[in-house]
Amino acid sequence: MSYLSFAREMLGNLFKPPATSQYPFKPRKVYEADRGKVVNDINNCIFCGMCMRNCPSAAITVDRNARTWKINRFACVQCKECVTNCPKKCLQMETEYTAPDTKKTEEVLQGPPPPPKPQIVLTEAQKAAIAAAQAKKAAASKAAADGTPHA
Ligand code: SF4
Ligand code: SF4
Repeated sequence: MSYLSFAREMLGNLFKPPATSQYPFKPRKVYEADRGKVVNDINNCIFCGMCMRNCPSAAITVDRNARTWKINRFACVQCKECVTNCPKKCLQMETEYTAPDTKKTEEVLQGPPPPPKPQIVLTEAQKAAIAAAQAKKAAASKAAADGTPHA
């Protein structure tokens, strides 16, 4: 590089604004497609585990029985696979980054209790049909055990 071009480069750099920003002292520019952190609307989660199975870094743990959804944000690589594969669309990728921390903690979300199962009310005819079917099955089992043919 000649002295002339070196001096031109140096003077240009002296008067240009810095290429980097002063984050976190100055707010960073947020873009719509920024991948910040995964959030879950736990009230719509059905604990199917699709997000857990599709996570390449095993950052998500779903416990269907306990109805908990857990994420290790320090393991998450912001690939968005969980968001894409959630059948209930309750996962979103926020543009905000995870806050720095001194400890590697996991975030646990507790889902609401499951809705009560609908009560099935049988008519008398249905009850009689079920009883007849059970009696027939019991007779068939007894005949098979005795070694006698049955109708
Ligand atoms: S894929 Fe969606 S609905 Fe299924 S467990 Fe994950 S967050 Fe819940
Ligand atoms: S964004 Fe990727 S790495 Fe992070 S939890 Fe979802 S699937 Fe896992």
